[in-house]
Amino acid sequence: MPTLIIEKNEKPGDSWRNRYKSLHLHDPVWYDHLPYLKFPEDWPVFAAKDKIGDWLEHYTRIMELNYWSSTECTNARYDEDAQEWIVQVIRDGEPVTLRPKQLVFALGVSGYPNVPTFDGAESFLGEQYHSSKHPGGGDWTGKKAVVIGSNNSAHDICADLWEHGADVTMVQRSSTHIARSESLMDLALGDLYSEKALANGVTTEKADLLFASLPYRILPEAQIPVYQKMAQRDAGFYSQLEAAGFELDFGVDGSGLFLKYLRRGSGYYIDVGASQLIIDGRVKLANGQVSKITGNAVVMDNGTELEADVIIYATGYGSMNGWLADLVSPEVADRVGKCWGFGSETPKDPGPWEGELRNMWKPTNVENLWIHGGNLHQSRHYSNYLALQLKARMEGLPTPVYELQASNHTR
Ligand SMILES: Cc1cc2nc3c(=O)[nH]c(=O)nc-3n(C[C@H](O)[C@H](O)[C@H](O)COP(=O)(O)OP(=O)(O)OC[C@H]3O[C@@H](n4cnc5c(N)ncnc54)[C@H](O)[C@@H]3O)c2cc1C
Repeated sequence: MPTLIIEKNEKPGDSWRNRYKSLHLHDPVWYDHLPYLKFPEDWPVFAAKDKIGDWLEHYTRIMELNYWSSTECTNARYDEDAQEWIVQVIRDGEPVTLRPKQLVFALGVSGYPNVPTFDGAESFLGEQYHSSKHPGGGDWTGKKAVVIGSNNSAHDICADLWEHGADVTMVQRSSTHIARSESLMDLALGDLYSEKALANGVTTEKADLLFASLPYRILPEAQIPVYQKMAQRDAGFYSQLEAAGFELDFGVDGSGLFLKYLRRGSGYYIDVGASQLIIDGRVKLANGQVSKITGNAVVMDNGTELEADVIIYATGYGSMNGWLADLVSPEVADRVGKCWGFGSETPKDPGPWEGELRNMWKPTNVENLWIHGGNLHQSRHYSNYLALQLKARMEGLPTPVYELQASNHTR
């Protein structure tokens, strides 16, 4: 299947390298393998982001992928007459037009930054940026940092700033699910992705199939007992966090982390140490809504002023069809509709029930336009199905679609 990959960064893996210095994969190695070429057996359980960046770079070469780096897609539109896409890219500064039959947007489930607009933000005299731009490291001694948000990136960044001398406050607007990494590995992933699972004959491929075989309708039922066990095992830890003022949840129905990820792609932290900083008061906590930003502070709705030299918006990522509005058109973005979530009628995943992740790895309402994304496990597994659908079309095999999904939500 002739395929060309377009990447705006200079080198494969830069999307990992460019993130904050302290970033390590949040999921254990057994969960993270790439297709066809597994990590070596002595690979760390939680690889550092540059190691992953290097692996991706070598992967493109070893797998002989047609990969154009330093190439940015600036526009794409469908040519109805020719039945192909016209994709404008800038490659090493030069414009190039591509005409693929099929176009896959794989711009990352955590790619489209969500930055709230607070009154007065433009008057802030310090630095302010989205979590995806946090460089990490540096000397923050004597500086005050306010991190808005209380999920994974917020925790990682608070810990990083604290380690580098900053006086850090995390702003928590709503409750967050916290799963201690050891407990998650043991209770939630252990039977499928672990040394123990491998010893029991559950290879990565078998684990992927087992995982995918559970329909989303019944997945919560299977997950709730896991998180009940976690709540029991880590009861002391959770009560310490609550005593520190941290608002906790396990998902609206108690189904925990993976369901939150599938329904809304946010709302949790896999604890690798930042929770202890909150328990100890080394990272301070402010609960509630931000009401405005002044020249030197974040002002909360209860009137508390949090002085700041830097404000970091760890406010998550938008729906992947946001990219389509920028690169194709807002009409096409709306026709495709919201990506991710499946209509569980839980926060950030409105109904009606759709049963599968919206628009992921399957035909969308726009001809020959596909969306790929997710974590490494999902990318490894579902890219097979996406590739087969494309290959079948290329070979001219009949590809009847049982029923195209309705586009119930625009973003
Ligand atoms: C802090 C953090 C920690 C994570 N930890 C884990 C983990 O432990 N395990 C896990 O499985 N997943 C993890 N993830 C999820 C992770 O994003 C994915 O696993 C993985 O990066 C997905 O790869 P991707 O190629 O789909 O998206 P990305 O890595 O986001 O790649 C999208 C690419 O599109 C490029 N791009 C954007 N616009 C254009 C354009 N116009 N033209 C050309 N190129 C463009 C970007 O430069 C980028 O390289 C984490 C994510 C974050 C943010």
